[in-house]
Amino acid sequence: MPVMKRSEDGSLLIPADLLGPLGLAPGDRVAVEADAEGRLVLTRSAAREPSVEVSLRQAIARKNLETPMQFIKGVGPKMAEILARKGIVTVEDALYLLPNRYEDRRQVVPMNRLRPGETCVFAGEVVSADVVTTKGGRRFFEVMARDASGVMSFKWFNYHAAFMRKAWQPGRRGIFTGQVTQYGLQREVHHPDVDWLAEGETVEAAMARDPVGFGRLVPVYPLTEGLNQKALRKVMKEVVDRFAPCVESALPARVIRERALLPLAEALGAVHFPAADADPRALEEGRDPAHRTLVFDEFFFLELGLALKRRGVTLEPGIAFSVNHTYTKPLLKLLPFALTEAQRRVLAEIKADMMAPHPMHRLVQGDVGCGKTLVALLAALVAVENGYQVAIMAPTEILAEQHYLNIHRWCEQLGVTVALLTSSLKGKAKAGALERVARGEVQIVIGTHAVIQDKVEFHRLGLGIVDEQHRFGVLQRGLLRKKGENPDILVMTATPIPRTLAMTVFGDLSLSVIDELPPGRTPVETKICTDSRRRQVYGIIRDEVAAGHQAYVIYPLVEESEKSELKAATQMAEHLANDVFPDLRLGVLHGRMKPEEKEAVMRSFKGREIDILVSTTVIEVGIDVPNATVMVIEHAERFGLSQLHQLRGRVGRGSATSRCILMASDRLSDDGVKRLRVMESTTDGFRIAEADLEIRGPGDFLGTRQAGIPDFRVANILRDGRILEEARAEAFDLAERDPELRAPGHEPLREELARRWGGRLELAGVA
Ligand code: ADP
Ligand code: MG
Repeated sequence: MPVMKRSEDGSLLIPADLLGPLGLAPGDRVAVEADAEGRLVLTRSAAREPSVEVSLRQAIARKNLETPMQFIKGVGPKMAEILARKGIVTVEDALYLLPNRYEDRRQVVPMNRLRPGETCVFAGEVVSADVVTTKGGRRFFEVMARDASGVMSFKWFNYHAAFMRKAWQPGRRGIFTGQVTQYGLQREVHHPDVDWLAEGETVEAAMARDPVGFGRLVPVYPLTEGLNQKALRKVMKEVVDRFAPCVESALPARVIRERALLPLAEALGAVHFPAADADPRALEEGRDPAHRTLVFDEFFFLELGLALKRRGVTLEPGIAFSVNHTYTKPLLKLLPFALTEAQRRVLAEIKADMMAPHPMHRLVQGDVGCGKTLVALLAALVAVENGYQVAIMAPTEILAEQHYLNIHRWCEQLGVTVALLTSSLKGKAKAGALERVARGEVQIVIGTHAVIQDKVEFHRLGLGIVDEQHRFGVLQRGLLRKKGENPDILVMTATPIPRTLAMTVFGDLSLSVIDELPPGRTPVETKICTDSRRRQVYGIIRDEVAAGHQAYVIYPLVEESEKSELKAATQMAEHLANDVFPDLRLGVLHGRMKPEEKEAVMRSFKGREIDILVSTTVIEVGIDVPNATVMVIEHAERFGLSQLHQLRGRVGRGSATSRCILMASDRLSDDGVKRLRVMESTTDGFRIAEADLEIRGPGDFLGTRQAGIPDFRVANILRDGRILEEARAEAFDLAERDPELRAPGHEPLREELARRWGGRLELAGVA
C-alpha cells in the first residue's frame, strides 16, 4: 500500500497511482467525512461538478438580473420607455449604466469657501429674489442667499417669474447644490438644485431625509434626456442595493486575487455609490479599483474568446516551409532599392511563421506606400520555392490588376508564372486560366473574390494573401483557407489601427507593423481652404497640370442622400469641365458606373489621357498613379480622418512635391476645424487613426460590429489600454493551460463566455 504524505500547507498528497482507483484526477478537490459506522467516505467536492445548489443559485441570480426595469420602485411607464430607448431594459443593463461624473456632496460648504468650477452643497437663507434687467436689456432672475459665512448669487436665464417668486421667498431656508462660476469678482451659481428645509428643521436632519442625494459622492448619469437625475438616482440606488449582489464574477479566484480585483458585485456598488472616502477624480477618470475590475472583466472575456479562436487555428497542422532563397535572393538583387528596416523585420516575422508546422495567421499593417506589396511578394516567393501555389486577393478589379502588373513585372524576370483571375475574364480565356491553376502551372494567382469562387481549384495552395483586409469579412478568409489544406494566411491592411483596437478587432491574428516609409518620400503638404479661396485652389490645379502632372478632385458620397450627392458630383464635374478648365481633359468616376466603365476611366488616368479626375470615394485605396500630385477634397469635414488619410495617400507617390487641399465650409465649427487641423499637422497614419478613434469611437472606426466584436459596456479602449494588455495576457495564458475550460474553478468561464459572445464566437471563427 503506497504511503500518503502531507504537503507543506497541510494538505494530503495522494500518490498518482491511487488516483485512478479512487476515481480522481489531478486537481480534484475532495471532502473526507466519517459515516455512521465511522468509515471514512471520500467525495469529490463542488469544484469539478458544480452541485445542484450552486447551479440553482446561479440560475436564480441570472434570472433576477433579467428583471425588467418597469418592475423597479420609482420607474413609471414613462421612465421605463425613456430608459428602454437608451437600451436599458433589464436591471442588468441598468447596473452597467455607469455615472460619467460624481458630485461631491459629502459636506456642506460655507458660502465664503465655495470655489469656482466646483459643484458643491451649501445651505442658507433667501435674502432677496427678483427679475433683474441689465443695461443691455437682458433679463434674468436673481436670488441672493446667505449663510453665517457670506452671501451667494443664484441666476436663472429661463424662468417663470411668478413661479420663481413664490418658491424663493425671502426668509426661506434650503440646501443648495450647483456649480460655482466666477464673473470678475462675483461668484455665482446658475440654476442650483434646492431642497427646502421645513420650519425649524436643521440642515443635518434634512440631509438625513435623503441619504441617496446627500452626505456622499453622488453619481451623475449620462444619456438621460427627459429624466430627472434625482429620480434616476433613487431608482439606481434601489437597483444597485437589490441586484448588484446577484452579479457574480466568473473569473477564476486566482486571477481576481493576483490582479487585485474586487468582486463584481462590490465593484458595481462602488462605481454607482462610492464609499465616503473614495477619490472622485480617480472615479471620473476610471482609475479606481472598481472601474479597473469592471473593465478587466469585460476585456477578459473578449480576449478569452479571441484566444480560443486563435488557438483553434494555431494548433492545427500546417505546412512547414523552408526558406531556400531560390527566388527571394534573386528578387532582392533585381530591386533598385534596399528593403527598409521595417520591411526586413516584418518579413522575418512572416518567415518564422511560415517555417512553423502550423498555419500562419498574420496581419501586416502599414501605412499607404510603406511597401506592403513587396513584402507580400517575398512571402509568396517563399511558398513558390517550396513548390506551393499562392493566391492573392484584392477587394476590387482595379487593385487586383495593379498588383498583377507590379508582381508580374518581377516574376517574369524570375521565371515564376503569375495569372490574373477576375470576373471580367470570360469564356475560353477563363477556362484556360482555371485549367492551368488546377494543374499547378500557375504559381501565383492574383484576383478579386473570383479567386475563392467554387469553380476555382488549386493544385497545391500553400499561402493565401488578402489585401486591404477590412473590406473582406472573416468569412472570405475562411473560404480562402478551404482552398488548400490549412494554407498560411497573410492579411494586409493599409488602415493604421491603434494597437489597442487592433488587439480587439484582429485579436485572433498575430500582428506585424511596417512603421517606416521608404526613404526619399516628401510628405504631402496639406492645407485647409474655405470656399472663399476656391479660385486660388483652381489656380494650383492649373499650375500642376501645366507642369505635366495630374490632379484628383474628390467628392463625398453620403449614403442616405446618395442621389443628390451624386448629382452634386456630376454637376461639379460639368462645371469644372465647361467653366473652369475648358482647355483641360477631365474624367469622372463614381459608384453608379459599371465596373468596365470605371476600369476604362482609371486606365486612361493612369495612361495620362486625363488631366483631372473628378471622383467620388470609389477612387480606390491602393491605386498608384505617381504622376498625380494634387488632390482637392470637397466637403472634407464629412470624411473620417482615417479616410482622408487614405485618400491623401493617392498623391505623394512620386518624387515631385504633392499637395492635398481640404475644402471646408466657411461655417465649419471650431471643433470641425480642430479635427481637420490634425491632417495639416501630421502624416503619421497612427496618430491620425488615434485622433479619429478618439472622436468617432471604435464602433464607427472600422465597423467593428461587422467584425463580430462585442460592444464594450464600460471599457474605453483608448483610456484602458493597460488593462486590456493585462486582461489579454491573462486570457491567453488561461486558454493555453485549459483550452476547454474544464479545470476546477473554470466552469463558470465557459457559460459566461458563451453568454457574452452569443453565437458570435463560432460565427467569427476563422474557418
Ligand atoms: P503599399 O504599402 O501602400 O501597398 P506599395 O507596396 O504599393 O505600398 O509600395 C509603394 C511604392 O514604394 C511602390 O512603388 C514600391 O515599389 C516602392 N517601394 C517598396 N519598398 C521600397 C523600398 N524599400 N525602398 C524604396 N521604394 C520602395
Ligand atoms: Mg497596397
